[in-house]
Amino acid sequence: MAEWTRQLAENLRTVRSRIDAAARRAGRRGTDVTLVAVTKYVPAELAAALVAEGCLDLGESRPQELWHKAQALSDTPVRWHLIGPLQRNKVRRTLPLLSLIHSGDSLRLLEEIDRHAMGTGQRIPVLLEVNVSGDQTKHGFRPDELRDLLPVVLGFPRLRIRGMMAMACRAGDLEAARHDFRTLRQLRDDLAAVAPRELSLAELSMGMSSDYEVAVEEGATIVRVGSALYEGIQL
Ligand SMILES: *Cc1c(COP(=O)(O)O)cnc(C)c1O
Repeated sequence: MAEWTRQLAENLRTVRSRIDAAARRAGRRGTDVTLVAVTKYVPAELAAALVAEGCLDLGESRPQELWHKAQALSDTPVRWHLIGPLQRNKVRRTLPLLSLIHSGDSLRLLEEIDRHAMGTGQRIPVLLEVNVSGDQTKHGFRPDELRDLLPVVLGFPRLRIRGMMAMACRAGDLEAARHDFRTLRQLRDDLAAVAPRELSLAELSMGMSSDYEVAVEEGATIVRVGSALYEGIQL
């Protein structure tokens, strides 16, 4: 076994045990949290090794890179997550590869996804990305537009809205991150309170390498971890 494979397995164990500990601090179970390993920095070979280690949920932020890795890993049980912007002209090719879109960040995109899902007989699982920090450089819906959005989103019959996604504002500042995660959770709770019962907003995708433990403490059901998994690895 190559040295990097051992290191990867060890990093994966470390991240998983930290998720587990954070979940237990919040009175939850580690198994309630899905680890999405973000593979945007690494070659397909490493992504395949993660799957072989039992980490079946992988995330990419660029559709083209996702197409490439999906092809390379097509004989594995991987589940792909899109965590970055999806241009409307890439929807058709990307949709069949995905198990969850985290980055439902505009009505035009949701509309396009709904249109392309027609005829596939499937409802596409999507999270609403929310710009909780109000940072101009970040994507997502404004918190104050979510309520008006609800009837529109419910009008897309082929989407299955599963919850919400956000990125914390200042990487490294854990208390600021905690504030953003709480904001997302509160927004979700507020929306769920006025939503019809068939709309489940159970998923909260929040937390990256620098702040996933805080995110789990604040209710994340999905964390998106990249660089922490590759520490000490030189290919
Ligand atoms: C890159 C990326 C991550 C993972 O970032 P790390 O800090 O490397 O863990 C998570 N979420 C999104 C949306 C990303 O683009």
